[in-house]
Parts: sequence; C-alpha cells; structure tokens
Amino acid sequence: MDLEARYDFELERVSNWITSNGYSKVLIQSAPGLLPYLPKIAKELANSTKSEVLIDGRGRYGACDIPHSLVGAEAVVHFGHTGFVPAEYPILYVPAICKLEIDDYIPRVIELLIGKDKVGLCASVQHINTLSGLKQELESKGKKVMIGPPGKRAQFPGQVVGCDYLCAMRLDSEVDSHVIVAGGEFHSIGLALSVSKPVIHLNPYTGDAKWVEKSVADKINRIRGYAGYQLMSSKKVAVVEGLVSGQRTPGVAKSVRELLNRKLTRATVDIIQAENFSDDFFLGLKELGYDIVVTAACTRFVTDDYDRSPLPIFEAREVHRFFYDALNMSRGVFILQ
Ligand code: SF4
Repeated sequence: MDLEARYDFELERVSNWITSNGYSKVLIQSAPGLLPYLPKIAKELANSTKSEVLIDGRGRYGACDIPHSLVGAEAVVHFGHTGFVPAEYPILYVPAICKLEIDDYIPRVIELLIGKDKVGLCASVQHINTLSGLKQELESKGKKVMIGPPGKRAQFPGQVVGCDYLCAMRLDSEVDSHVIVAGGEFHSIGLALSVSKPVIHLNPYTGDAKWVEKSVADKINRIRGYAGYQLMSSKKVAVVEGLVSGQRTPGVAKSVRELLNRKLTRATVDIIQAENFSDDFFLGLKELGYDIVVTAACTRFVTDDYDRSPLPIFEAREVHRFFYDALNMSRGVFILQ
C-alpha cells in the first residue's frame, strides 16, 4: 500500500513532534477507513524516530472517540480528524487530507446548479483542500459562492463534522443551495438534515455528483418522530451515556432519566454507560428487556443507526422538546457540545 498515493499523512511533521518531545512510546490511531495504512505508518515512524509505535486496533469514529487514559504509551497520533476534545495526555491530530482531484467532476456540479445562483460550500476534513478550487470554478460561472467559518467542533472554514454543520447552517438563509464534498453518505445526509436548502453531494472517490433526495431526510425524520411515540408507551427505557472523551455529556442522561421518571410513571428507566456502541450492544439491550434506547452519546445514532438497532432509538436532547412541544421538534443533527 503506497502511503503517499492517496492521503497526506504528514509523516515528517509527526516524526518531528515525536522526537522533539522525546516520546519513546507512541500510540497511533485513525478513522476506520484509514486503519489499513497504520501498520506501514507505524513502521515508517519507528524507523524515523527510533520510538516504539503501537497501533490502536479499533477505528475511531471521530475526534470525540479517544481513550481517557493511555496504557503503555506516552502520547497519541490520531489520523483522519481534527481535534476538539481536551485530553489528559499529549495528542497530535493529523487530518490526512485526501489527494484526489475533483476537477473532472465540477462540470457535473455546474450542470446540477442550473437555476441556483447562491451556493454554500462545505466538505469533510479529508476533502477540505478541494473547496478553494471549486469556489473559483463556480464563481467563474457567475455563481455567488460562500464558505462559512468553522463551527464548534471543526477547525477549517467550510469543514463539517458528523455532529457539527454550523459552517453551512450559518449560511443557509443567504444561499439557495449547498454543495458538500465528502466520501460516503454520512456527511451529506447530516447536512441535508441540518439545512433547509437543497444539497448536492460530490463524492471524490466515485466521481458522483447528485442532489441528496429530500425523501432520505424525510424518512429519517419520520422514524425519529415515530420513535418518540414509541417512547411514550415504553415500559423499560435504556438511557445510553457515552464514555469516550468527546461524547460525555454529564448531566444530560441524568436529567432525561428524571424527566422520563416523571412522565412515564409505569416505566423503568436505567442509565447504561458504554464506550463502543456495536450491534451486539444494541442486541444485548433488547435481550435485557429494554424496549427503546434514548441516546445521550453521539448525536448521529438517531439519524444513522436506527436501521442496525433492533430497538427504536430516540435522541436524549429531544426528550424535553418532545414532551413539551412535540409539534416543534427539531429535525436537524444536534450539535454535541
Ligand atoms: S460525536 Fe459522533 S458525529 Fe460527533 S465527532 Fe463523535 S462520532 Fe462523529
């Protein structure tokens, strides 16, 4: 696997960071999609720094997903995200910017934008480098193009994070469409749920550029609403609290449990803590007799994991609104802070 071909892992910067700080044992970790690169990165860093380089075997879903404390390492290098969580140990984030060019796909975006004049641009961090070229191209076709300042969990203008679309949300009233550059569907769906204007998704890996179907966001919102009604008749509720550093929201689970205890007088409401929410975790909750999950952890469980969970999932931050103002429930992705 050629380390240089697709992503910029900034190994020189990483090496300098390790040697200049004198770390002798370093843990490297990454987003799930970058895991196959880690053995080779570990070898290169071990050679260049003479330090011991350990590999974290679990793909990390976000910069939120970092261990509380380290075992057998003094520092962490985290590839694939930008950081937003204070850690109790030294940690270096490397965004691993993708080197794929999108120039060949821009004409299709321009074609889709016929009739749209004011466009907001954003991207996942891996593709943040594509935004300035895309902006120039669209402006050369007479479009007014805007890139919003980073939100609470992002670092670069135009950067979206799974639970932070603020950079695009802030522009929503000024544009008539949004374009997002990202792989997979995760970020484009998150954006479509968070803004009111239509969204074009440009995928640099496949070259596809297409409108995100409104029906996709509508379906997710219908399922969210239905989970709320299931909550009202639940007999055993699992309020799930995340334990990884950036998903801990102390107080949310507790206050939701208090509210549910008041509202659902015949239900049992338990707080369940977990670090990793695998399919087995949700299955285990069902086997324990729970009939609904209220998640106070990653806000995307409710929008992305409802179809892999055998139990309906409801978002903890929506519970108050659901009981007091069900008709005005938010439909966006909640910003975890
Ligand atoms: S909380 Fe969820 S969406 Fe936000 S960064 Fe972590 S994994 Fe991504």
